[in-house]
Amino acid sequence: MIDYAGLMTRAAMLRKNLGEDSSSPIDIFAMAQNIDKLTIVYYPLGENLSGMCIKGQEDNNLIAINSSMTLGRQRFSMAHEFYHLFYDDNMISVCAKKIDSGKDTERSADMFASYFLMPDAALQVRAESLAGEHPDNELTINDVIRVEQYFGVSHQAAVYRLMHTPYLSDSRGNAFLTESVRSRAETLGYSSDLYRPSPEGKKYMTYGNYISQAEQVLEQGLVSEGKYEELLMDAFRSDLVYGDETEGGDVLD
Ligand SMILES: [Zn+2]
Repeated sequence: MIDYAGLMTRAAMLRKNLGEDSSSPIDIFAMAQNIDKLTIVYYPLGENLSGMCIKGQEDNNLIAINSSMTLGRQRFSMAHEFYHLFYDDNMISVCAKKIDSGKDTERSADMFASYFLMPDAALQVRAESLAGEHPDNELTINDVIRVEQYFGVSHQAAVYRLMHTPYLSDSRGNAFLTESVRSRAETLGYSSDLYRPSPEGKKYMTYGNYISQAEQVLEQGLVSEGKYEELLMDAFRSDLVYGDETEGGDVLD
């Protein structure tokens, strides 16, 4: 059984606990970097997995996100992993790519992610006003794109969720699921970043706790400079060892 009301409450409470309001689009990757003792790894996890959550000793936790999936999907995956991190008792979760499938825990995590990224009241207001423009009071594919762009989620995640509102019928929603929307979004004036995977240089990345721990053990003299660099290289952070040649140094802004 999926407890929709309970998941909606948990999503609203976590937004509040992490310092977000109850309706706005969020920068979930920045949010993840501010969670205490959390290491975030972006890594191409293959065709079938979207992410992983591993809870370690002393609250040293790790979330891995499949960087070969689109940006919109990676944002959804991060919210899904937040569910495992904060509300699931399992110590290790390995998550499949397909949305709303598998065990109840996986489906609950998907629904939680949807509520977390698209708070219900905000979504309903947007959907109602977009649908109100049409005589049949139903959303068009362009409206769905406006919704997914606003909240920063994948097309699939937006369609699934809007099918839970009165403004998108199952038959129309299922037809929208089979449509590729990247070029359509571009012609509406949006960037297509949401529909693309991470660029090559960003497919392997580590942020958060691991990086700051490595710095600390170096400062405390527990490891040599060489070992510190090795730790960073293991975490795909050659940019911290050699500097980032692509960006031409720090910019003051
Ligand atoms: Zn999962």
